[in-house]
Amino acid sequence: MKKLPFNSYNDFMKKLFKVRVYKISIDAGFTCPNRDNTKGINGCIFCDERGSSSRTQNINCSIKEQILNNIKIRKTRYKAKKFIIYFQSFSNTYAPIKRLKELYDEAISIDKDIIGLNIATRADCIDEEKIKLISSYKKKLPFVCIEYGMQTSHNKTLKIVNRKETFEDFLYALDLTKKHNIHHCAHVILNLPQESIEDQLKTAMIISKLKIEGIKIHLLVAMEGTILADMYKKNLWKPLSFKKYIHLACDFIERLHPECIIHRVSSSGHPKAIIAPIWMKRKNLKIIEALIEEFKKRGTKQGFYFKN
Ligand code: SF4
Repeated sequence: MKKLPFNSYNDFMKKLFKVRVYKISIDAGFTCPNRDNTKGINGCIFCDERGSSSRTQNINCSIKEQILNNIKIRKTRYKAKKFIIYFQSFSNTYAPIKRLKELYDEAISIDKDIIGLNIATRADCIDEEKIKLISSYKKKLPFVCIEYGMQTSHNKTLKIVNRKETFEDFLYALDLTKKHNIHHCAHVILNLPQESIEDQLKTAMIISKLKIEGIKIHLLVAMEGTILADMYKKNLWKPLSFKKYIHLACDFIERLHPECIIHRVSSSGHPKAIIAPIWMKRKNLKIIEALIEEFKKRGTKQGFYFKN
């Protein structure tokens, strides 16, 4: 196995399970407090109508159909052997506890090769009861993970992107998650409006100090129909070039804790719906290859500038 200059999720999972583990993304029909008028109706400025999912799911299918179809495709095409169910779209803990249990129970019981449960949510949709429920799946499955859409450590930016939650909400959820020893991952978005390079690198340092186990690094992308797309058209936000993104992502990773697991280093989104940056529409982007090349040029790697 080729050694990457950062801790990749794929390598981490391969070490744990000895085979490649495939994520099955599903849309379980949740909504979000920033969409249903509990906190707001317009959502985050970058959220499209599918709750920032990758649109790989057929949302007209039941959970069972989504899982069976996806597993079948992966088993046939890639000879896949192990699967993690990924509750991806919107806020997947935003329902009464009884409903959450029904949905999670149903999802993990559909195929004997399901070995994990991954739940993406907002920090303000978590409480101790929900954490205890999620934690209970550790008795049934070898891998349980919660992903929080943290996005940035700066409240001023969270306001600008209309997140309607704070960094302190994230810290509260993180504490509960750590207390119940659940694997966790924070999503961070680079190139958010009005964030300087220093602001973004400060977020990397804060993540490291907090010893967050995993991180998903996204580049901000303007999708069709979003507020961000309007901002882009009015010249109120500038997308990053490929080269600048690679530089920034390297700077960011150099400041991460050396043990933090990097779940991903790029955003997803249907190419047809991407407005900017245009280069994100390209198939076969080779972001990982470009990062490897940049780290090689610099002679650095993940955690190179990490200070304990
Ligand atoms: S929290 Fe997620 S689902 Fe809700 S509006 Fe923001 S991006 Fe969309």
